[in-house]
Amino acid sequence: MDRSLLEARFGKKFVALIDDSPLLQRDLRALARLKCRVRRWNGKHAAYSKTDINDRRNALIVIGSKGTPLDKVLQFAHEAYHVLKGFTPSYPDPKVMSRAQYLASSIAEETRAVMHEARVAEELYDKGYLVPARHLRTLVELHRGGYSAIKAEVESSMASISNESYRDTYGRYYDQHVAALGRKRLHRLEARKVVCSA
Ligand SMILES: [Zn+2]
Repeated sequence: MDRSLLEARFGKKFVALIDDSPLLQRDLRALARLKCRVRRWNGKHAAYSKTDINDRRNALIVIGSKGTPLDKVLQFAHEAYHVLKGFTPSYPDPKVMSRAQYLASSIAEETRAVMHEARVAEELYDKGYLVPARHLRTLVELHRGGYSAIKAEVESSMASISNESYRDTYGRYYDQHVAALGRKRLHRLEARKVVCSA
């Protein structure tokens, strides 16, 4: 992931902000080693990422085109955490991980991502950038109450993409995934039945 590519997609200011955050510079180097792709999502004020926790190479980070360069850089910091350090499987196996375990893991990972984002916001604030109040509030929470305070914030906040709580979003995802797995198993069994009766 080279700088000219980031500059072309997100602008000069985005790259200048990354240069002023030691944490983000470290993330950027790690993402480059993994050959992580970064895309712009036109007309959106949201971000997401895709990664496989067993093989983090060729992960993907997508950042919406709306919002200030600082918004985008903080979204980038958040998604970089998911890609580099995330520990929740994208496709949970219900035989290995229960719905409750999946929810707990998802919320713990999201909490860590928000904490990383807040630490980057702090670095930029210290460099004199104007950081929006909501990020400063999270930072104050982080200093005051640490992990558990941020976790409480995550649990009560809304997911940026789906407008429902993280618990509902991840719970629905788990249910859909498990239902899809069940359907696949059924198809396999039916296919075997056809083969057997042929
Ligand atoms: Zn997240």
